[in-house]
Amino acid sequence: MPTYNFAAGPATLPQPVLEKVQAELLNFENSHMSILEISHRSPLYTHVYQAAKQNLLNLMHLDATVYDVLFLGGGASLQFTMLPLNLAHKHHRVAYINTGHWSQRAIQEAQKIPGLTVDVLASSENTDGTFTTIPEIPEIPTDTYDYLHITTNNTIMGNAYYELPDTSTPLVADISSNFLGQEYPFEKFDLMYAGAQKNLAPAGLTIVVLKKSLLDQVANLPSMLDYTAQSQKESALNTPPVFQVYVANLVLEWLKNLGGIEAIAQENQRKAQLLYNCLDNSQLFHNKVAKAYRSLMNIPFVTDSKELDAEFIHAASQAGLLNLKGHRLVGGMRASLYNAMPYAGVEALCHFIEEFERNHT
Ligand code: PMP
Repeated sequence: MPTYNFAAGPATLPQPVLEKVQAELLNFENSHMSILEISHRSPLYTHVYQAAKQNLLNLMHLDATVYDVLFLGGGASLQFTMLPLNLAHKHHRVAYINTGHWSQRAIQEAQKIPGLTVDVLASSENTDGTFTTIPEIPEIPTDTYDYLHITTNNTIMGNAYYELPDTSTPLVADISSNFLGQEYPFEKFDLMYAGAQKNLAPAGLTIVVLKKSLLDQVANLPSMLDYTAQSQKESALNTPPVFQVYVANLVLEWLKNLGGIEAIAQENQRKAQLLYNCLDNSQLFHNKVAKAYRSLMNIPFVTDSKELDAEFIHAASQAGLLNLKGHRLVGGMRASLYNAMPYAGVEALCHFIEEFERNHT
């Protein structure tokens, strides 16, 4: 029986990548050492790191003279703090759009920075605490905010941006959960950050892609929290997550060979549409996100009964459809359809949903 892992992160990785990792694990590049053992100062690693950086910029069609890529630790969550520390130096005032739990987490952490004013310019929170749309963004006065922060895809509620805000304020985004899976005009972002554990690599690596012009603006930040210090030391200010960067580079190579973000985004569209159609045709299961804002990556759904949800999750896992339990904040089910989820996995899930419905109505 084939199994499919629908987890929201850590998440499924491409099978060919896992096989390559397995094949190379004991002897990396004929060094007679494992990638798990090699020094981050060795050329073996610096080649991997340089390749990963260049592959990422190429896939995002970003110019290496304009953008830098940092490979950091601390998860996307540390960026909730590093971002204001590094960027909010002129106006000491920042703007956020609230489109779900992870936007709220970013806002809460920014609010802890002394002397910083955090304005939430728009929110799509419903009265019951759910988020099913992306809000209209008001006209933003020029030269008022150090940045405008958005969360491109909300992993828990399954709402996503399709149009980016049109603003002269520097645009920064948490793109953790649709990173490399949905197309955007990436050059519109001044900074993007993403935890790797969804579409790129195992947990323990965070990617920050930022304009080089944002560096060298703030003095005396603690080094580990300072983008400039991290950039100057090629993200090896301390011992970097070598294995994660290595896997990231293999995933980036895999994606390049598949035709890049454009190609995978189309495939993701096809996969998501299949599942949304199946849910929209169902009398038993529902997805509550407004159609224009439905995520390609994370698709939450429910029945009207918690008991039935639990029965569905259990029966699905018995059938090889794993990790469909929704986030603890919202319950129900959630299918994460990241880049490495094959179309066949979504077909299997849809067949299972239809069969479950036939047996329960
Ligand atoms: N932002 C988003 C959109 C997420 O989905 C997550 C994790 N699920 C985070 C931030 C937090 O990431 P991390 O665990 O890497 O800190």
